[in-house]
Amino acid sequence: MPLTNTISLITGAASGIGFGIARRFARAGSRVAIADLRLDAAEAAAAAINADHPGAALAVAMDVSDEAQVNAGVAHVVAAWGGVDILVSNAGIQIVNPVEAFAFADWKKMLAIHLDGAFLTSKAVLPHMYAKGAGTILFMGSVHSKEASPLKSAYVTAKHGLLGLSRVIAKEGGPRGVRSNVICPGFVRTPLVDKQIPEQAKELGISEAEVVKKVMLGQTVDGEFTTVDDIAEVALFFAAFPSNALTGQSLTASHGWSMT
Ligand code: NAD
Repeated sequence: MPLTNTISLITGAASGIGFGIARRFARAGSRVAIADLRLDAAEAAAAAINADHPGAALAVAMDVSDEAQVNAGVAHVVAAWGGVDILVSNAGIQIVNPVEAFAFADWKKMLAIHLDGAFLTSKAVLPHMYAKGAGTILFMGSVHSKEASPLKSAYVTAKHGLLGLSRVIAKEGGPRGVRSNVICPGFVRTPLVDKQIPEQAKELGISEAEVVKKVMLGQTVDGEFTTVDDIAEVALFFAAFPSNALTGQSLTASHGWSMT
């Protein structure tokens, strides 16, 4: 299996895309640390994976925007399993509002989870990867790393920012065996998206069905949602890639919504 004997740390892995990646990585032979703000949900996710792959999953309590919690969580995984080979910086939330009504506190919260979280988790795992001379970091970007939509100023700003962070880590890490890449999904039907549908319908003055058909899927080639499994396969491809050739890149999986 392509990830045999690897240790993965996946943030926001109690739900949605992160959980799908954790399940896929465990099936590919990796041990997976399920790091999440919600420890009970992380424990349930780890139990579900352990039922199929005994001993493969470990739940870790972590608010990715809190440096002490990130460092403690990474130290916990290193103490349990000896290192971290793969980081998937995936934890995220969505807050929608037009700029003039976007609360500054919400802006700061969004950037803290998406950007501080990516920086802090990378900073914490890199010394362990450098010590081994190998590792890979994946950031969960979005089509919104490359395109903009109304109501999503903080999200679009943060997701664009991840491209820059990933490229810097690719440059710094390359000579030391560490690769860094960004995955850019289109809309995936997870709790994060389900929450937005009524919120966007209200803000835009259209029905929930129109939000799905026009706003979320209107620019795809086939009107289809991207799935958790689609994104898990992209993550596996990046994580298992056998050389430094694939670093500093981003890959969009969005049914053609974005073609950049
Ligand atoms: P989700 O809501 O299903 O899962 C997000 C997880 O992150 C939850 O388990 C939550 O508890 C956790 N989390 C939230 N804040 C956290 C924090 N401060 N520290 C640690 N964990 C925290 O959402 P999802 O759709 O699976 O989203 C995962 C990632 O994928 C996000 O970065 C999101 O921006 C990105 N993404 C999602 C879509 C989509 O359409 N669903 C599209 C593109 C990108």
